[in-house]
Amino acid sequence: MEKIRTRYAPSPTGKMHVGNLRSALYEFLVAKHAGGDFMLRIEDTDQERYVEGAVDIIYRTLEKTGLVHDEGPDKDGGYGPYVQSERMKTGIYMKYAKELVEKGEAYYCFCDKERLDSLKTEVVEGKEISIYDKHCLSLTKEEVEANLAAGKPFVIRQNIPNEGTTTFHDELYGDITVENSELDDMILIKSDGYPTYNFANVIDDHTMNITHVVRGNEYLSSSPKYVRLYEAFGWDVPVYIHLPLITDENHKKLSKRSGHSSFEDLIEQGFLTEAIVNFVALLGWSPEDNKEIFSLDELIKNFDYKRISKSPAVFDMVKLKWMNGEYIKMMDDAKFLEMATPYIKQVIKKDLDIAKIAALVKTRIEVFPDICELIDFFEELPDYDIEMYTHKKMKTNAENSLETLKEILPILEAHDDYSIDSLHDLVMDFIAKKEVKNGLVLWPLRTAVSGKQSTPGGAFEIMEIIGKEESLRRIKVGIEKLS
Ligand code: GLU
Repeated sequence: MEKIRTRYAPSPTGKMHVGNLRSALYEFLVAKHAGGDFMLRIEDTDQERYVEGAVDIIYRTLEKTGLVHDEGPDKDGGYGPYVQSERMKTGIYMKYAKELVEKGEAYYCFCDKERLDSLKTEVVEGKEISIYDKHCLSLTKEEVEANLAAGKPFVIRQNIPNEGTTTFHDELYGDITVENSELDDMILIKSDGYPTYNFANVIDDHTMNITHVVRGNEYLSSSPKYVRLYEAFGWDVPVYIHLPLITDENHKKLSKRSGHSSFEDLIEQGFLTEAIVNFVALLGWSPEDNKEIFSLDELIKNFDYKRISKSPAVFDMVKLKWMNGEYIKMMDDAKFLEMATPYIKQVIKKDLDIAKIAALVKTRIEVFPDICELIDFFEELPDYDIEMYTHKKMKTNAENSLETLKEILPILEAHDDYSIDSLHDLVMDFIAKKEVKNGLVLWPLRTAVSGKQSTPGGAFEIMEIIGKEESLRRIKVGIEKLS
């Protein structure tokens, strides 16, 4: 069997959208699952949409996500150049376009803007497009030669007959047949001499020996035109895998406004790269079992493109957050501390033990910014309501809490070792002597030292971090509030 070769072929037009990342990931997985090669090709023939810096974003994202390409502009594998504007300089697109003209599968078109603007338009998939009327197809060879010699601007168009049908195969959608009359004579070479994306893409996929093409299903409707090009040249058509649309929770197309449309946005919101990759892998694909957490290596092992679904994939933010929380729990402590520290320092200005605070929140957050709200009470005791002392299950109320705090205050004042273990022994001893349930003491104590209904860590963890002086001060505040 021939070696599988896939490519990620981004147009450098800005950020790495979630859909782009998914295409890159699936292309990578299709190749790697079968021990094949994954290639990067930059499709920069649309000079108007080119965005400075976008190529860097592509490299950075691929590196960060671990989608290592085997070949690309920076890694020659013998199929270069890997940037379309550089390929153009080799004359490759013009050469093949002329070959199509020779075969009668393409033709020169000299129509000016005015004439094109006057053509009838049709609404296709919500977009208004004009169908070219084949006006220039009737030019004789001599007329064409004369126009070219006179330096008249031209484009080269694909010649698609008005009769008959074209059929192509997609791995997920099966065989699709369209009426040729619905297919526009699309431009292959533009008046600036650049190939269109549609043409360059076909030439490159063939000349770079690409076996599987994975891309968003917005390209599905153009695929018959691509297939006609392959057939006109007598080339093998690659395996097509068109991916389902990604929608937001309201089943609308992901938009920039929704804030989760690009990889950079998600990183900025505090999501971990591994979690994003894992999440994106499941936007359209699912394994046989219900497993949801996959490392990249596990994805490579398990990814079977036949299991990609055709129905739209919903970008479920709640699920991404959950997944991110799972990845945070799996992180090693040192790495977690490093990443959590800037968030902790946003809130904690006092000289408290950052590592201890980090250890307390690690299993309780989904994204790093969650930390801030969880730990603010370490910095300052909030102004809380004494209702908080009342807890049905613990059998506590304002009255017995006041009594407990008053009793335990002198014991804590006389104690100097505020480590968790020592505090634990001291307070448990007190509880044992009083012969009461733990909650009756621990609930008011934790409430007094935190001023919060729920906290990361219990009374002892909190007291160890804020220290003796502050613990006593807070207990006295509690007594005052309750009195
Ligand atoms: N340059 C196209 C894009 O960025 C590539 C589509 C394809 O994979 O064929 O959308």
